[in-house]
Amino acid sequence: MRIVVLGGGPGGLYFSALWKARHPQHEVHLFEQNPAGATWGFGVVFSDRALDFLREDDPETAALVAPRMQTWRDITLVHRGEAIAIDGVGFSAIGRLELLQLLQARARSAGVVLHFETTVRSLAELGQADLIVAADGVNSLIRRELGDAFGTTTSQLENKFAWYGTSKPFDTLTQTFVSHELGTFNAHHYRYAPGMSTFIVECDPHTWQRAGLDAAGEDESRVICEQVFADALQGHKLISNRSVWRNFPWIWNDRWSHGNVVLIGDALHTAHFSIGSGTRLAIEDALALMKSLEAERDIASALVRYERDRRPIVEKLVAASRRSASWYESFPEHMQLAPLDMAMSYIRRSGRVDDERLRETAPRFMARYDAARSTT
Ligand SMILES: Cc1cc2nc3c(=O)[nH]c(=O)nc-3n(C[C@H](O)[C@H](O)[C@H](O)COP(=O)(O)OP(=O)(O)OC[C@H]3O[C@@H](n4cnc5c(N)ncnc54)[C@H](O)[C@@H]3O)c2cc1C
Repeated sequence: MRIVVLGGGPGGLYFSALWKARHPQHEVHLFEQNPAGATWGFGVVFSDRALDFLREDDPETAALVAPRMQTWRDITLVHRGEAIAIDGVGFSAIGRLELLQLLQARARSAGVVLHFETTVRSLAELGQADLIVAADGVNSLIRRELGDAFGTTTSQLENKFAWYGTSKPFDTLTQTFVSHELGTFNAHHYRYAPGMSTFIVECDPHTWQRAGLDAAGEDESRVICEQVFADALQGHKLISNRSVWRNFPWIWNDRWSHGNVVLIGDALHTAHFSIGSGTRLAIEDALALMKSLEAERDIASALVRYERDRRPIVEKLVAASRRSASWYESFPEHMQLAPLDMAMSYIRRSGRVDDERLRETAPRFMARYDAARSTT
């Protein structure tokens, strides 16, 4: 069997490494436009629960990745200069490049043929294959080339974001909200290596224009963001890595495969970074695809099974991600709330928790919240 994978992000690398390790007799080729040592973005974060699936299904990869991760408990929400700790959830983070390099090493040692610095311009360039895995991200060439085959819908959020890094290590995943003379800003920031943190800056379109960010270049934007978040950064600089302003894209596909071509990861669906699950979903898709291919006798049945088994799980997570994103789309309104109330609104944004559950999962936060409420 000859399998071709387009895209050397987490989804494509993980699928090819896993498949080739379990089926060494098959030929697996992966094409990636970037060099092996380069990527966009900085660190990515996973909740403890998000990593459970990897510990269960693939302890070997979990054991490889876990020691390289930064871990902590709690989320901190900073509003009007006050820091509110929200306890209850543990997190782990790792540099995107470090994760990719671990997966590259696994793919290489399993015998996957890795073609870096190879931009594929059409499906035909991939040659004959029994299975083509489209792991080529948000702007998937394969998805676009096959037109209506997948029933794709795309749209984008209104807020603008830019993904920076910084040398300041933060103790927890922190959501900092700033009301500045230029407008209202939010940063999602957390450490992913001993001396490095991700720092994603987000603002509403009105602020973006008013602050002149629509006309500012990469360097100028970075300096403006450093000024806005001077208190959080405490003298540290922001670092740019192709950190241009973008609108978060929603991608969804009604049909997950067409003939021998199957979509995984961001090419198939996106999940907003505020719930930090896109990488996890891409890796889980790869696992689900592998299981379906092994369970069925032919590829066509395996692709039907992949969509049938995986779709309900993805739909649930994407729905939560959409609710979370819509909370961020109106974060300037939530900033009218007092810090504790805003923290409560933040926790409830994906609509999945009530007070009872919170008393179990976030007892310290709820004790503080209840105490404040009883005095007002
Ligand atoms: C600001 C931001 C923060 C995020 N934070 C998190 C987080 O904390 N946790 C988390 O889990 N997820 C996070 N994500 C989401 C995560 O980055 C994606 O969901 C994940 O990378 C999807 O993996 P993938 O393999 O499907 O696609 P990608 O990682 O996008 O990989 C696709 C690859 O295909 C290659 N490619 C595309 N077209 C071609 C072509 N024609 N020829 C050759 N190569 C091609 C690209 O170069 C790329 O390497 C974040 C996303 C954003 C935007």
